[in-house]
Amino acid sequence: MGYILSSDGFAKFMEMLSGCEGSLDLLEGQIGDALAHVKDELHLGKAAMIMEVHPNAFQLRGRSISHDFYTSEKGYATEAIKESYITGNKGVFNMFFHPEIGYVWNEDEKKAVRTLSNAIYISMRRVRLKELVERAMLTDSMTMVSNAMGMKRFVTQIMEKNNHSAYNCAFMNIKNFRYYNQKVGSTQGDELLKVYATKINDFLLPDENITRMGGDNFIVYVKKERVGAFFERMKKINVQLWVDNHPISLDVETRIGMHDIAPGDTMDDVLNCAAIALAYARQQNARNVVWFEKKMRDLDLQAQTVSVAFPKALANGELIVYYQPKVCLEDNSLCGCEALVRWVREGVIVPPMDFIPALEREGTVCDLDMYVFETVCKDIRRWLDCGMNPVRVSVNFSKLHFKDDRFADHILDIIHRHGVPSNYIEIELTEASGFESFDNFERFSRIMRENKIEVSIDDFGTGYSSLNILKRLNVDVIKLDKSFIDTIENEDTQDEVFIKNIVNMINELGMRVVAEGVETNNQVEFLKKIHCSAVQGYFYDRPMPRERYEERLLEKRIY
Ligand code: C2E
Ligand code: MG
Ligand code: MG
Repeated sequence: MGYILSSDGFAKFMEMLSGCEGSLDLLEGQIGDALAHVKDELHLGKAAMIMEVHPNAFQLRGRSISHDFYTSEKGYATEAIKESYITGNKGVFNMFFHPEIGYVWNEDEKKAVRTLSNAIYISMRRVRLKELVERAMLTDSMTMVSNAMGMKRFVTQIMEKNNHSAYNCAFMNIKNFRYYNQKVGSTQGDELLKVYATKINDFLLPDENITRMGGDNFIVYVKKERVGAFFERMKKINVQLWVDNHPISLDVETRIGMHDIAPGDTMDDVLNCAAIALAYARQQNARNVVWFEKKMRDLDLQAQTVSVAFPKALANGELIVYYQPKVCLEDNSLCGCEALVRWVREGVIVPPMDFIPALEREGTVCDLDMYVFETVCKDIRRWLDCGMNPVRVSVNFSKLHFKDDRFADHILDIIHRHGVPSNYIEIELTEASGFESFDNFERFSRIMRENKIEVSIDDFGTGYSSLNILKRLNVDVIKLDKSFIDTIENEDTQDEVFIKNIVNMINELGMRVVAEGVETNNQVEFLKKIHCSAVQGYFYDRPMPRERYEERLLEKRIY
């Protein structure tokens, strides 16, 4: 048989096989070409393969592949040499070689055929391994959808086909994922991500793409004409998990920032726009899908300017605390006040609504709140030390603090550090919206009240408040929003009946009512009549700098 192995044809055959660096598809063609160099001397009639791939991470349903490398025009004998190889993961790779019709291989020739078979098998394993490594580099190892590199590859491909603007891009974040993760544990949290990604992937077409960008953030490229169906699919993704040997079923909702891709958009443009839209979707809790609009970018830039300037302003003492008195309606006495922050920026006093939303978006509002709180504690300590007999001060806190499990500890640390008795402190919170923060809200307010610190719900009537929730909120004070109080002037008796009943109900639930934004005597008289405890508003006092407020403390205790 030596004559075959040493032939030029065999050397060429080996050279062609080992030179192939392309994909498996390319290699299949190349094997056919390589066999052309030995087919005559071996009297080869046909060479073919069948490969069975068992289900694996990349091919969830497994695959069966068959391919004919070469078929002679002269025809081939039915009997064949079959060589079987067991591949990784118990796959099977079978090769079939037939001599030309009418030809019978001798033992030497059979050996030579087996050598060809081994060489083909080795080269196919090598290329397949290379493909798997490349696949792994483009795939998120937890969910098996694309990773950032995979998305880049996908976008490059659709751009090369001039097809980029046939798609819309969705930047997505799972609603309440933090909450689920805490509830079910991180292993089942991972399972949630896997099932979620797989279900979306199953909805997508082969020329669409889903990418996991880390955490619970995903990006989807979906064809424009399928956006409606996509939103419908995304409304709820049902995920079944096992927790403590019990099945639980979750209807997972998603926040989506959408960008309508225009011709000429780069991948970075698209991702930026979709991310900005997602930030808006996050802010407006009520809407899950937000489409990017140009004006959002301007607001975003403005917010970035604020966020960049903020840390320095905080360090430079540009943020100062104003105080607005609260007046008890029973005896017209000064019974409390609210701390309200101001930013003195280049000599101009900037109101909180011009910078707090931006800080909320960046998360830095938490630093601001703690700074205001420290300032308030220092002031109270000083007032006590010089015998000023201060009243309770309420301080506003963003609901972002609920992301920090140690929020309550921080508050207690600060008042202890400054030696402030807790009956001088009230914490104002806007209502917990969504159940993610509800548990934390309840826990926080319980700890505060155990420590004799009062808790109030700010801006009641503007958000999702329902009297039903009120019952469960364990708080001391409800602050009725100005928008309620404004209706008192309308001379519409229905509005007044409405307010009267709300105040009644809150009182009956054992909480006090403070009315905000009271500007007229009429409003004061009405609120007195319906047993509202206290009011805060321009009618009595505007928010004022510390020095002026100290004068109030010293002189005017009765209005
Ligand atoms: P808020 O906590 O509801 O505070 C009451 C707002 O109503 C204050 O606006 C106050 O100046 C205004 N106000 C009070 N009485 C009247 C009135 O009779 N008429 C009118 N038209 N307005 C009245 P301000 O100081 O501009 O604060 C706006 C919001 O900014 C606050 O609403 C609060 O949500 C937020 N804020 C202020 N300081 C802080 C802070 O330190 N941290 C956080 N997270 N938020 C703060
Ligand atoms: Mg407030
Ligand atoms: Mg308010």
